[in-house]
Amino acid sequence: MNIKEYVALRKEELKKEISSYKRLPQFVIMQVNDDPASNVYIKGKLKDAAEVGINCELRKFDIDISEEELIRQIEIINNDPSVDGLIVQMPLPKHISEDNIKLAVSPKKDVDGFHPLSKLDPCTPKGIINYLKFLKVDLVGKNAVVIGRSNIVGKPMARLLLKESCNVTVLHSKTTRKDMEMYISNADIIVVAVGRAEFLNETFTYKKEAIVVDVGINRVDGHLVGDAKSGLPVQLQTPVPGGVGLITRLTLLDNLMEIFRNEI
Ligand code: NAP
Repeated sequence: MNIKEYVALRKEELKKEISSYKRLPQFVIMQVNDDPASNVYIKGKLKDAAEVGINCELRKFDIDISEEELIRQIEIINNDPSVDGLIVQMPLPKHISEDNIKLAVSPKKDVDGFHPLSKLDPCTPKGIINYLKFLKVDLVGKNAVVIGRSNIVGKPMARLLLKESCNVTVLHSKTTRKDMEMYISNADIIVVAVGRAEFLNETFTYKKEAIVVDVGINRVDGHLVGDAKSGLPVQLQTPVPGGVGLITRLTLLDNLMEIFRNEI
């Protein structure tokens, strides 16, 4: 089953579940930017929520809003019992600390799973694990290589793969080309999240039964391109677009529903 079909199936399941509750889940997206990519992501989130029957409200703020005032607005939502979940859309204007804002969102409402005390995992790595499990990929004892070590993708991805008993190696910008080649050629699962178009390409060798999960979203000549060149000689490669981006959006709904189920 491809990712589009998987996401459609899971959304149907969520829709059915939500229709069985007396009240609808409610979440708020706060936007403090005028970023075209953010507008696209938010539009997608609103569409997904509407499709499964979740009430989602977009609250837009002036980009000149102070950090203190934004935190005050977050606290209003934190304390509003009618709101189950909250997302503050990144990036934020330079005068506002993203770290402070991530900490201001109550861990109980943190749909993104960014707060250190949040019980939820960040959506991209969590969704990737769920998809691999849905495909019945045997993860135990497999060599997993994560390329990229960001706080929202690479690090939590490595942690979750380790939880599934993979042998995990994390590579990054300081990894030598020689080591990169060695680890990639021995990998059963490769998750690439570096933000460089076609970083993984035919100049590396791969196990033919390897699985490549492409997290990257790069804009090249007006097109979206992944961190992996399409058509690598492996067993399975997730596409871009129509791959991990869809999984991430689905997992946002999953995280919100986890909060909602605990509430009711
Ligand atoms: P990020 O914070 O910029 O981190 C990039 C990571 O890649 C860093 O750890 C960096 O290493 C590493 N890196 C950069 N150049 C490298 C190189 N030449 N060789 C090896 N490692 C290198 O990015 P991110 O937030 O994790 O996102 C990564 C990509 O995924 C972006 O394209 C982003 O748009 C995309 N993304 C997609 C989704 C989705 O839903 N599909 C979600 C999140 C992100 P150092 O730490 O050494 O600098």
